[in-house]
Amino acid sequence: MIAKLWIQNQSLDALSGETLDTPNPATGQRLATLARGKREDVDRAVASAKAAFPAWSRMDPNERQRILWRAGELVLAHLPELARLESLDTGKPIANSTAIDVPRTADTFFYFAGWATKLTGETIPVRGPILNYTLREPLGVIGAIIPWNFPLLLAARKIAPALAVGNCVVLKPPEEASLSSLRLAEILAEAGLPPGVLNVITGLGEEAGAALVDHVDVAKISFTGGTDTGRIIMRAAAGTLKKLSLELGGKSPNIVFADADVDTAAKAAVSAVFYNQGQLCTAGSRLLVQRSILDQVVDTVVAGTRALVLGDPLDPKTQMGPLVSAAHRDRVVHYIGKGDAEGASRRAGGGATGPGYYVEPTVFSDVSGAMAIAREEIFGPVLAILPFDDDDAVEKAARLADATEFGLAAGIWTRDIRKAHTLAARIRAGTVWINTYNRFDAASPYGGYKQSGFGRENGRAVLEELTQLKSVWVNLA
Ligand code: NAD
Repeated sequence: MIAKLWIQNQSLDALSGETLDTPNPATGQRLATLARGKREDVDRAVASAKAAFPAWSRMDPNERQRILWRAGELVLAHLPELARLESLDTGKPIANSTAIDVPRTADTFFYFAGWATKLTGETIPVRGPILNYTLREPLGVIGAIIPWNFPLLLAARKIAPALAVGNCVVLKPPEEASLSSLRLAEILAEAGLPPGVLNVITGLGEEAGAALVDHVDVAKISFTGGTDTGRIIMRAAAGTLKKLSLELGGKSPNIVFADADVDTAAKAAVSAVFYNQGQLCTAGSRLLVQRSILDQVVDTVVAGTRALVLGDPLDPKTQMGPLVSAAHRDRVVHYIGKGDAEGASRRAGGGATGPGYYVEPTVFSDVSGAMAIAREEIFGPVLAILPFDDDDAVEKAARLADATEFGLAAGIWTRDIRKAHTLAARIRAGTVWINTYNRFDAASPYGGYKQSGFGRENGRAVLEELTQLKSVWVNLA
């Protein structure tokens, strides 16, 4: 399969003619050859988006709404094809891409289609015989940069709200998994998106991504990816004073109190961390357990982990596929070795098998807060279980929960509503789940506290970040 750049609703080679190979993570064999977009290709894409902006931003919002709604319908019409493509490219189980990735992508277009006609300004009661009102206006060209764990869904999360309010987009998909972004761009063209409104530049982060970040005609970078990359982007964006939103990493605590439905909580803790092979920014990778129920929780989690079915991503029975790349597998295996070396007890998993990039779901207990596996984001199938004491349990859990540089998400399991809401307010994280985990909706704001980033995606919140306010003063005297 050969995948090219998408500019002006056309598939084009990179100007250099260079390409990159991308493997099938389940086999290690080449899956596709991508165009290796560079600065000159980003220039073409940004110029095309800039040229499309005046007409797109002034288009009747009802028409933008219709195009985005049609995009959602076409995503659903192509569900099996998109699910297969996403599973082939990322290694995620087809059952998940069919039930979650593709339907949630369609939902994202349906939800933001409605906003095209609903975002309003205000009239403001100022001093004097004056009519003062605000106009909420699009920013211009948005540079969207996404990672490989949910490429289709994250592409939709960036594209749909940006287009709804009249921006144009240049998307830089991840080099490991670009195919669904390119197919989505074709689908949007079929839905009626005019040429130039969405462009996709495949290539490397340091080349195509970096060129987008320092491009003078890109008004904002909306980035999802690693915290270290976020730091590089923030520095690079200073040159053009670009607006930024950064959705970065996490090391999210999933907290189980003794008064919870312990069996349900322990079973849910398995999917909280291992969903998508643990390659989930909100993965419940630190399971914090009240000491009096520790043994029961560890036993249930270990049994649930051992029961997970690893296999071919295209087999509907598979619950866990391979990791996305050989480099990522090696990184995860390195962390498992660190857990062993630092003295944690490995209770399940640890092995890596080929020829694809498979890593067994791995559980460590007896983890202390100082260990690397308790502090650093592994972004793979590795769970660290840490106990907290029974006396003053809410305070102890809160302190342990906040003891990382991240603040993306947290889970709380308890039957005591006072405890649940007290802790929900106390924890420094952008999302808190109570007696559930990993729930998302296009309508609900999502983003990080602390070094998990800033800015919000989804909901009304993202639209405010993709627009700017103009204050208009009319003399009525
Ligand atoms: P990454 O930061 O390496 O890459 C993400 C994207 O940035 C890719 O498209 C890459 O090509 C690009 N990039 C890399 N260097 C760049 C540069 N110098 N300039 C511009 N672009 C550059 O991340 P990854 O390994 O693909 O993904 C894993 C990370 O993403 C994890 O840390 C995870 O927590 C995070 N993530 C966060 C969220 C969230 O919503 N907070 C969601 C999913 C993943």
